[in-house]
Amino acid sequence: MSQKTRGILSAGLLTAILAGGGCRNGGPVGGTGKEADAPASYSEISEALRSEGLRSENAYALLSDLVRVSGPRLAGSPGAAAAVEHMRRVMDELGFETWLEPTTVQHWVRGEETAEIVDRTGRIIDSLTISALGGSIPTPGSGGITARVIEVASFEELDACGSSVRDAAVFFNRPMDRTLMETFRAYGEAARFRTEGPSKAAGHGAAAALIRSVTPRIDDFPHTGMVGYDPAVAKIPAAAVSTEDAEKLSVSLKEDPGLRLRLRMSCANLDPVPSANVIGQIRGSDKPGEIVLLGGHLDSWDLGVGAHDDGAGCVQAVEALRLIQACGLKPRRTIRAVMFMNEEFGATGGLDYAAAPGRKNEKHIVAMESDRGGFLPLYFGVGGPPEARGKFAAHEEVFRSLGLSGIRAGGGGSDIGPIVRQGAVPMGFVPNGQTYFDLHHSGRDTLDKVHPRELELGAIVLALASYIASEEGI
Ligand SMILES: [Zn+2]
Repeated sequence: MSQKTRGILSAGLLTAILAGGGCRNGGPVGGTGKEADAPASYSEISEALRSEGLRSENAYALLSDLVRVSGPRLAGSPGAAAAVEHMRRVMDELGFETWLEPTTVQHWVRGEETAEIVDRTGRIIDSLTISALGGSIPTPGSGGITARVIEVASFEELDACGSSVRDAAVFFNRPMDRTLMETFRAYGEAARFRTEGPSKAAGHGAAAALIRSVTPRIDDFPHTGMVGYDPAVAKIPAAAVSTEDAEKLSVSLKEDPGLRLRLRMSCANLDPVPSANVIGQIRGSDKPGEIVLLGGHLDSWDLGVGAHDDGAGCVQAVEALRLIQACGLKPRRTIRAVMFMNEEFGATGGLDYAAAPGRKNEKHIVAMESDRGGFLPLYFGVGGPPEARGKFAAHEEVFRSLGLSGIRAGGGGSDIGPIVRQGAVPMGFVPNGQTYFDLHHSGRDTLDKVHPRELELGAIVLALASYIASEEGI
């Protein structure tokens, strides 16, 4: 590992932090150190960040405040607007440079939603726990849709059903592959039926689509997500059904293939509304026009409060800046936290950020996105050219000291995608994703599912990585 020393963390500050006294905002605190203002190594800096972070567990306090103030933060909702104001105020109070940048968001509202299984005579056999998919059109009239149910587990099966799909409700019953270690891969495979399924069913003349929730867990929580309507075919109402009820429905259909689904949903797509990305930064002392970006998305789904997805990523970015400041570090390049708006409904925040006039005189050298839940960091991923990874690999031991297994290829995310396409190197920590899809986009995504220490470790890793990037460049 490189023993190169950089930074202005004083020996006195380090002594104070490690003694449990914590840090103060605004620069190095005096202390008992003999070598005041001696340059600090990255391992000393890491130790200071870790000590301050784990002592305070401040990321959790930030998250707790956010979800208390905003509740669910569906793009375009009052909760999302409250979150914008709140996070800006929080960063103002921390003394960062802050501002908002405009973005326009789709405004979809959930209404009443019920689903029942009825027999041929119209007698109710059972009710299903469902949730309209984001962006879904409502069912017509007050009676909704009553339709035969055709169960499929793949698009090939759907194609093979031919004309029998006409006027039916297509039930995509494709479980997530529980055998894969990479839960995000299993999610990607199964989530296709949520994003593409409704329009594929509509292409065959279906009247509605019911999607098995994209989670490996068998329970009664529906998991929503955005439906991706194909403009070439008619839109049909689309809902997710809990895995427990998906299993139950599948059994019932085997016993009686003549069962019908009665679906009523009063959701609506309203006019788009103006919203904002929330930005805070510590200006670089040497190269302020070179930016190290830390991002998360401030909007969430409405069934829970988006504690993991992605309140966690937002507060980790803010906390990383706070740790850097609290430890008296003065980054050479600008370190910027961006809370993107509208990731869940088309990622307009990320697109508008990259295209904003303010970007003209800036060069984003690094972009990190935390949008995989606030779980224990497992390793650090660096994308871009191999030299970028090499630069961080030189400091691998420091990352290992924070419990990470090392530095690997990786990094990226939907919000930082546009700025990465402009040349920023994507990177970020990858947390333990084994339980993320138990709660993702569901009513389970609440504050009590977040562990303060695990959440903080992510912020500490981001603080360390962004500080190294600000010192070393790419
Ligand atoms: Zn997310």
